[in-house]
Amino acid sequence: MFPVAIEEYRRPKTLSEARSALAGYDPDDIVMLAGGQSIMQAIKARMVRPRCIVDLQDLTELKGVRRDGGLTIGALTRYVAIAEDASLTGGYAALRDAAQHVGDRQIRNRGTIGGSVCWNYVASCLPAVVLGLDATVNLLAADGGERQVAIDDFLIGPLETARRPDELLVSLSLPGYGVGTGSAYRKWGLVTDALPVVGVCVLVTLAADGTCGAVRVSLSGLAAGAQRAPDAEAILLGSDGGDAAISAAFAAAAAAADAQADKWADSAYRRQLIVGLGREVAATAFDRARTGAKP
Ligand SMILES: Cc1cc2nc3c(=O)[nH]c(=O)nc-3n(C[C@H](O)[C@H](O)[C@H](O)COP(=O)(O)OP(=O)(O)OC[C@H]3O[C@@H](n4cnc5c(N)ncnc54)[C@H](O)[C@@H]3O)c2cc1C
Repeated sequence: MFPVAIEEYRRPKTLSEARSALAGYDPDDIVMLAGGQSIMQAIKARMVRPRCIVDLQDLTELKGVRRDGGLTIGALTRYVAIAEDASLTGGYAALRDAAQHVGDRQIRNRGTIGGSVCWNYVASCLPAVVLGLDATVNLLAADGGERQVAIDDFLIGPLETARRPDELLVSLSLPGYGVGTGSAYRKWGLVTDALPVVGVCVLVTLAADGTCGAVRVSLSGLAAGAQRAPDAEAILLGSDGGDAAISAAFAAAAAAADAQADKWADSAYRRQLIVGLGREVAATAFDRARTGAKP
Protein backbone atom coordinates (compact mmCIF):
# COMPACT_ATOMS: atom_id res chain seq x y z
CA MET A 1 0.00 0.00 0.00
CA PHE A 2 1.01 3.60 -0.46
CA PRO A 3 0.23 6.41 1.95
CA VAL A 4 -2.50 8.92 1.22
CA ALA A 5 -1.03 12.16 -0.13
CA ILE A 6 1.08 13.98 2.46
CA GLU A 7 0.95 17.75 2.09
CA GLU A 8 4.19 18.70 3.76
CA TYR A 9 7.49 17.22 4.91
CA ARG A 10 9.46 19.21 7.47
CA ARG A 11 12.94 18.40 8.69
CA PRO A 12 14.04 20.64 11.60
CA LYS A 13 17.68 20.78 12.62
CA THR A 14 17.32 22.24 16.11
CA LEU A 15 14.87 21.91 18.96
CA SER A 16 13.56 25.43 18.39
CA GLU A 17 13.03 24.65 14.69
CA ALA A 18 11.26 21.48 15.79
CA ARG A 19 8.85 23.50 17.93
CA SER A 20 8.03 25.74 14.96
CA ALA A 21 7.68 22.68 12.73
CA LEU A 22 4.99 21.37 15.04
CA ALA A 23 2.87 24.49 14.50
CA GLY A 24 0.51 25.30 11.63
CA TYR A 25 -1.48 22.08 11.61
CA ASP A 26 -3.88 20.48 14.02
CA PRO A 27 -1.55 18.33 16.20
CA ASP A 28 -3.55 15.24 15.19
CA ASP A 29 -2.63 15.86 11.54
CA ILE A 30 1.12 15.83 12.22
CA VAL A 31 3.22 12.74 12.60
CA MET A 32 6.73 12.87 13.98
CA LEU A 33 9.14 10.50 12.32
CA ALA A 34 12.10 9.06 14.25
CA GLY A 35 13.51 5.78 12.91
CA GLY A 36 10.34 5.17 10.90
CA GLN A 37 10.43 1.44 11.69
CA SER A 38 6.90 1.37 13.10
CA ILE A 39 5.16 4.51 11.91
CA MET A 40 5.98 4.09 8.22
CA GLN A 41 4.22 0.72 8.18
CA ALA A 42 1.18 2.33 9.80
CA ILE A 43 1.23 5.22 7.29
CA LYS A 44 1.63 2.90 4.32
CA ALA A 45 -1.25 0.77 5.57
CA ARG A 46 -3.27 4.01 5.91
CA MET A 47 -3.92 3.30 9.59
CA VAL A 48 -2.35 6.71 10.15
CA ARG A 49 -3.04 9.54 7.65
CA PRO A 50 -0.90 12.55 8.47
CA ARG A 51 -1.13 15.79 6.50
CA CYS A 52 2.38 16.75 7.62
CA ILE A 53 5.43 14.71 8.57
CA VAL A 54 8.02 16.23 10.90
CA ASP A 55 11.19 14.22 10.44
CA LEU A 56 13.26 14.34 13.62
CA GLN A 57 16.39 12.61 12.38
CA ASP A 58 18.55 15.74 12.10
CA LEU A 59 18.01 16.72 15.74
CA THR A 60 21.50 15.90 16.95
CA GLU A 61 20.68 17.44 20.35
CA LEU A 62 18.37 14.49 20.92
CA LYS A 63 20.99 11.83 20.19
CA GLY A 64 23.33 10.12 22.61
CA VAL A 65 23.69 9.05 26.21
CA ARG A 66 24.80 11.57 28.85
CA ARG A 67 25.90 10.95 32.44
CA ASP A 68 24.69 13.63 34.82
CA GLY A 69 24.50 11.96 38.20
CA GLY A 70 22.07 9.58 36.54
CA LEU A 71 21.76 8.79 32.87
CA THR A 72 19.96 10.85 30.23
CA ILE A 73 19.26 9.15 26.93
CA GLY A 74 18.27 11.36 24.01
CA ALA A 75 15.02 10.25 22.39
CA LEU A 76 16.69 9.95 18.98
CA THR A 77 19.39 7.59 20.25
CA ARG A 78 19.39 4.58 17.99
CA TYR A 79 19.47 1.00 19.29
CA VAL A 80 22.87 0.44 17.73
CA ALA A 81 24.38 3.24 19.84
CA ILE A 82 22.96 1.72 23.04
CA ALA A 83 23.95 -1.81 22.03
CA GLU A 84 27.56 -0.73 21.45
CA ASP A 85 27.90 1.41 24.59
CA ALA A 86 30.08 -0.74 26.83
CA SER A 87 29.73 1.76 29.68
CA LEU A 88 26.12 0.68 30.21
CA THR A 89 26.76 -1.76 33.02
CA GLY A 90 25.33 -2.47 36.48
CA GLY A 91 21.91 -0.86 36.83
CA TYR A 92 21.91 0.25 33.20
CA ALA A 93 22.92 -3.11 31.70
CA ALA A 94 19.32 -4.06 30.82
CA LEU A 95 19.29 -1.27 28.20
CA ARG A 96 22.14 -2.92 26.39
CA ASP A 97 20.72 -6.42 26.81
CA ALA A 98 17.56 -5.22 25.06
CA ALA A 99 19.09 -3.01 22.35
CA GLN A 100 21.47 -5.74 21.22
CA HIS A 101 18.53 -7.94 20.23
CA VAL A 102 15.89 -5.55 18.88
CA GLY A 103 14.88 -6.75 15.42
CA ASP A 104 17.70 -7.21 12.97
CA ARG A 105 20.73 -5.08 12.13
CA GLN A 106 18.68 -2.77 9.89
CA ILE A 107 16.09 -2.13 12.60
CA ARG A 108 18.84 -1.46 15.16
CA ASN A 109 20.54 0.98 12.81
CA ARG A 110 17.35 3.03 12.28
CA GLY A 111 15.08 2.51 15.29
CA THR A 112 15.26 4.82 18.30
CA ILE A 113 14.54 4.42 21.98
CA GLY A 114 12.17 7.40 21.89
CA GLY A 115 10.23 5.98 18.96
CA SER A 116 9.81 2.68 20.73
CA VAL A 117 8.61 4.29 23.97
CA CYS A 118 6.19 6.63 22.14
CA TRP A 119 4.80 3.82 19.98
CA ASN A 120 4.45 1.53 23.04
CA TYR A 121 3.68 -1.60 21.10
CA VAL A 122 2.81 -4.57 23.32
CA ALA A 123 5.48 -6.80 21.86
CA SER A 124 8.41 -4.44 22.17
CA CYS A 125 11.37 -4.41 24.48
CA LEU A 126 12.30 -0.84 25.36
CA PRO A 127 9.02 0.29 26.99
CA ALA A 128 9.30 -2.59 29.46
CA VAL A 129 12.99 -1.93 30.03
CA VAL A 130 12.62 1.77 30.80
CA LEU A 131 9.64 0.90 33.00
CA GLY A 132 11.83 -1.55 34.87
CA LEU A 133 14.62 1.01 35.17
CA ASP A 134 12.29 3.65 36.64
CA ALA A 135 12.75 6.25 33.90
CA THR A 136 11.35 9.75 33.80
CA VAL A 137 10.09 10.97 30.41
CA ASN A 138 11.06 14.52 29.43
CA LEU A 139 8.60 16.19 27.06
CA LEU A 140 8.61 19.51 25.18
CA ALA A 141 5.40 20.96 23.73
CA ALA A 142 5.13 23.12 20.61
CA ASP A 143 4.41 26.15 22.84
CA GLY A 144 7.66 25.57 24.75
CA GLY A 145 6.03 23.98 27.78
CA GLU A 146 8.13 21.27 29.38
CA ARG A 147 6.97 18.45 31.59
CA GLN A 148 8.43 15.38 33.23
CA VAL A 149 6.32 12.26 33.55
CA ALA A 150 7.19 9.13 35.53
CA ILE A 151 7.31 6.15 33.21
CA ASP A 152 4.69 4.33 35.32
CA ASP A 153 2.26 7.13 34.37
CA PHE A 154 3.50 7.57 30.80
CA LEU A 155 2.85 4.04 29.51
CA ILE A 156 -0.93 3.78 29.51
CA GLY A 157 -1.59 0.70 27.38
CA PRO A 158 -1.04 -0.79 23.94
CA LEU A 159 -0.08 1.98 21.50
CA GLU A 160 -1.13 4.54 24.10
CA THR A 161 0.94 6.91 26.21
CA ALA A 162 0.42 10.11 28.17
CA ARG A 163 2.21 12.10 25.44
CA ARG A 164 0.00 14.84 24.01
CA PRO A 165 -0.06 15.03 20.20
CA ASP A 166 2.01 18.24 20.09
CA GLU A 167 4.64 17.00 22.55
CA LEU A 168 8.09 15.92 21.52
CA LEU A 169 9.79 13.31 23.64
CA VAL A 170 13.17 14.88 24.25
CA SER A 171 14.87 12.35 26.49
CA LEU A 172 14.54 9.70 29.15
CA SER A 173 16.25 10.21 32.50
CA LEU A 174 17.30 7.32 34.71
CA PRO A 175 18.31 7.61 38.37
CA GLY A 176 21.98 7.33 39.31
CA TYR A 177 22.69 3.63 39.73
CA GLY A 178 26.05 2.83 41.27
CA VAL A 179 27.80 -0.21 42.69
CA GLY A 180 25.25 -2.47 44.34
CA THR A 181 22.64 -2.03 41.62
CA GLY A 182 22.23 -4.43 38.72
CA SER A 183 19.69 -4.95 35.97
CA ALA A 184 19.06 -7.41 33.17
CA TYR A 185 16.58 -8.02 30.36
CA ARG A 186 15.88 -10.99 28.20
CA LYS A 187 13.14 -11.80 25.73
CA TRP A 188 12.03 -14.91 23.95
CA GLY A 189 10.80 -14.59 20.36
CA LEU A 190 9.95 -17.11 17.69
CA VAL A 191 13.21 -16.49 15.86
CA THR A 192 16.42 -14.88 17.07
CA ASP A 193 15.98 -11.15 17.68
CA ALA A 194 12.25 -11.27 16.86
CA LEU A 195 9.65 -9.27 18.74
CA PRO A 196 9.20 -10.64 22.25
CA VAL A 197 6.52 -13.24 22.93
CA VAL A 198 7.54 -12.51 26.51
CA GLY A 199 10.36 -10.38 27.88
CA VAL A 200 11.44 -9.81 31.48
CA CYS A 201 13.41 -6.94 33.00
CA VAL A 202 14.70 -6.89 36.59
CA LEU A 203 16.41 -4.05 38.48
CA VAL A 204 17.78 -4.73 41.98
CA THR A 205 19.64 -2.63 44.50
CA LEU A 206 21.29 -4.45 47.38
CA ALA A 207 20.98 -3.25 50.96
CA ALA A 208 24.11 -2.93 53.13
CA ASP A 209 23.60 -6.49 54.44
CA GLY A 210 23.47 -7.89 50.89
CA THR A 211 19.73 -8.51 50.81
CA CYS A 212 17.45 -6.98 48.21
CA GLY A 213 16.86 -3.36 49.25
CA ALA A 214 14.88 -2.25 46.20
CA VAL A 215 13.54 -4.02 43.15
CA ARG A 216 11.49 -3.44 40.02
CA VAL A 217 10.29 -6.22 37.74
CA SER A 218 8.63 -5.52 34.39
CA LEU A 219 7.24 -7.68 31.62
CA SER A 220 6.79 -7.26 27.87
CA GLY A 221 4.72 -9.28 25.42
CA LEU A 222 1.48 -9.37 27.44
CA ALA A 223 -1.72 -8.03 25.85
CA ALA A 224 -2.08 -5.15 28.30
CA GLY A 225 1.36 -3.85 27.33
CA ALA A 226 4.52 -3.21 29.32
CA GLN A 227 3.71 -3.74 32.98
CA ARG A 228 5.23 -4.17 36.42
CA ALA A 229 5.01 -7.52 38.23
CA PRO A 230 4.19 -6.43 41.81
CA ASP A 231 3.85 -9.99 43.17
CA ALA A 232 7.39 -10.82 42.10
CA GLU A 233 8.69 -7.52 43.49
CA ALA A 234 7.04 -8.18 46.88
CA ILE A 235 8.71 -11.59 47.19
CA LEU A 236 12.14 -10.41 46.08
CA LEU A 237 12.20 -7.32 48.30
CA GLY A 238 14.15 -8.11 51.47
CA SER A 239 15.10 -11.57 50.20
CA ASP A 240 18.64 -12.89 49.79
CA GLY A 241 18.18 -13.05 46.01
CA GLY A 242 18.87 -16.77 46.07
CA ASP A 243 17.28 -19.48 43.89
CA ALA A 244 14.34 -20.12 46.22
CA ALA A 245 13.28 -16.49 46.40
CA ILE A 246 13.71 -15.97 42.67
CA SER A 247 11.75 -19.12 41.81
CA ALA A 248 8.94 -18.15 44.16
CA ALA A 249 8.88 -14.61 42.74
CA PHE A 250 8.46 -15.67 39.14
CA ALA A 251 5.99 -18.43 39.97
CA ALA A 252 3.91 -15.66 41.55
CA ALA A 253 4.44 -13.32 38.56
CA ALA A 254 3.35 -16.06 36.15
CA ALA A 255 0.27 -16.91 38.20
CA ALA A 256 -0.79 -13.26 38.37
CA ALA A 257 -0.09 -12.45 34.71
CA ASP A 258 -2.99 -11.97 32.34
CA ALA A 259 -1.23 -14.10 29.72
CA GLN A 260 -3.08 -14.13 26.42
CA ALA A 261 -3.20 -17.00 23.95
CA ASP A 262 -2.46 -16.06 20.34
CA LYS A 263 -0.82 -17.54 17.25
CA TRP A 264 2.63 -17.18 18.83
CA ALA A 265 2.00 -18.89 22.19
CA ASP A 266 -0.81 -20.11 24.39
CA SER A 267 -1.20 -18.70 27.86
CA ALA A 268 0.40 -21.69 29.63
CA TYR A 269 3.47 -21.31 27.46
CA ARG A 270 3.64 -17.56 28.14
CA ARG A 271 3.48 -18.25 31.88
CA GLN A 272 6.25 -20.80 31.51
CA LEU A 273 8.34 -18.17 29.72
CA ILE A 274 7.80 -15.71 32.56
CA VAL A 275 9.10 -18.33 35.00
CA GLY A 276 12.05 -19.45 32.87
CA LEU A 277 13.19 -16.04 31.66
CA GLY A 278 12.44 -14.42 35.00
CA ARG A 279 14.69 -16.81 36.91
CA GLU A 280 17.53 -16.26 34.50
CA VAL A 281 17.14 -12.48 34.34
CA ALA A 282 16.80 -12.03 38.10
CA ALA A 283 19.88 -14.18 38.76
CA THR A 284 21.84 -12.04 36.28
CA ALA A 285 20.59 -8.78 37.82
CA PHE A 286 21.59 -9.93 41.33
CA ASP A 287 24.94 -11.11 40.03
CA ARG A 288 25.56 -7.73 38.39
CA ALA A 289 24.56 -5.94 41.59
CA ARG A 290 26.93 -8.09 43.66
CA THR A 291 29.88 -7.83 41.34
CA GLY A 292 29.83 -4.10 40.67
CA ALA A 293 30.17 -3.02 37.08
CA LYS A 294 30.18 -6.45 35.50
CA PRO A 295 28.51 -6.08 32.05
C1 LIG B 1 10.91 -6.36 11.57
C2 LIG B 1 10.83 -5.60 12.87
C3 LIG B 1 11.30 -6.20 14.03
C4 LIG B 1 11.25 -5.51 15.23
N1 LIG B 1 11.72 -6.14 16.35
C5 LIG B 1 11.66 -5.50 17.53
C6 LIG B 1 12.13 -6.11 18.73
O1 LIG B 1 12.62 -7.23 18.73
N2 LIG B 1 12.02 -5.40 19.88
C7 LIG B 1 11.49 -4.15 19.92
O2 LIG B 1 11.42 -3.55 20.99
N3 LIG B 1 11.05 -3.54 18.80
C8 LIG B 1 11.12 -4.18 17.62
N4 LIG B 1 10.67 -3.55 16.49
C9 LIG B 1 10.09 -2.18 16.56
C10 LIG B 1 11.22 -1.17 16.50
O3 LIG B 1 11.75 -1.19 17.78
C11 LIG B 1 10.81 0.27 16.17
O4 LIG B 1 12.02 0.91 15.90
C12 LIG B 1 10.13 1.05 17.24
O5 LIG B 1 8.88 0.48 17.56
C13 LIG B 1 9.83 2.47 16.79
O6 LIG B 1 11.00 3.22 16.79
P1 LIG B 1 11.30 4.22 15.62
O7 LIG B 1 12.43 5.07 16.05
O8 LIG B 1 11.44 3.49 14.35
O9 LIG B 1 9.97 5.13 15.65
P2 LIG B 1 8.97 5.62 14.48
O10 LIG B 1 8.42 4.45 13.78
O11 LIG B 1 9.64 6.67 13.68
O12 LIG B 1 7.88 6.32 15.39
C14 LIG B 1 7.02 5.55 16.22
C15 LIG B 1 5.99 6.49 16.87
O13 LIG B 1 6.61 7.30 17.85
C16 LIG B 1 6.44 8.69 17.55
N5 LIG B 1 7.72 9.31 17.90
C17 LIG B 1 8.94 8.86 17.58
N6 LIG B 1 9.89 9.61 18.17
C18 LIG B 1 9.24 10.57 18.86
C19 LIG B 1 9.67 11.64 19.68
N7 LIG B 1 10.96 11.88 19.93
N8 LIG B 1 8.72 12.42 20.24
C20 LIG B 1 7.42 12.20 20.02
N9 LIG B 1 6.96 11.20 19.25
C21 LIG B 1 7.85 10.39 18.68
C22 LIG B 1 6.12 8.74 16.08
O14 LIG B 1 5.36 9.89 15.76
C23 LIG B 1 5.32 7.46 15.90
O15 LIG B 1 4.00 7.65 16.31
C24 LIG B 1 10.72 -4.20 15.27
C25 LIG B 1 10.26 -3.58 14.11
C26 LIG B 1 10.32 -4.26 12.91
C27 LIG B 1 9.83 -3.58 11.66
